[in-house]
Amino acid sequence: MYDAGGIEELPGRLARAEGERAVGDPAVNAAYNNVGLTLQFYAKVFGRRSLDGHGMPVASSVHYGDRFSNAMWTGRQMLFGDGDGIHIMGFAQSLDVVAHELTHAVTQSVVPGGLGQQRRGGKVKLVGQAGALNESFSDVFASMVKQWHAKQNAREADWLIGAGVLAPQLV
Ligand SMILES: [Zn+2]
Repeated sequence: MYDAGGIEELPGRLARAEGERAVGDPAVNAAYNNVGLTLQFYAKVFGRRSLDGHGMPVASSVHYGDRFSNAMWTGRQMLFGDGDGIHIMGFAQSLDVVAHELTHAVTQSVVPGGLGQQRRGGKVKLVGQAGALNESFSDVFASMVKQWHAKQNAREADWLIGAGVLAPQLV
């Protein structure tokens, strides 16, 4: 788990290595726990070793950018913005958002060339129906991870993705 220190450079300073105890920064610990839970879900429920099925180490960076209001799988690693602190309260603490983004990495490793991925203006975007399916798979698996962790069945679950990201007055 890395700390990008509020700038847009990756990965930043190593903040908590695999297996190390919790540190003073709640964002580091939340991201560490939620990435870990998602990897445990894939291992226990689907027998999948990490995101690529071959035990790849998963690097993540918190405090990416200045009030950056997103979290994403870059194609190589996870990054988490802190949000603006007014409407968006940060992403690392949201298990379903973390699982959604990490599932993009699973999809990327399962579908040669990526599902609906196209390089546009130096950025990889998800386009067309294949890109929509890619997003849908991420939402489905995010809901599964959330329900698996909460020990809920489909009827009990709220099926919301990202509810924990919004400021309380917006929910
Ligand atoms: Zn997505």
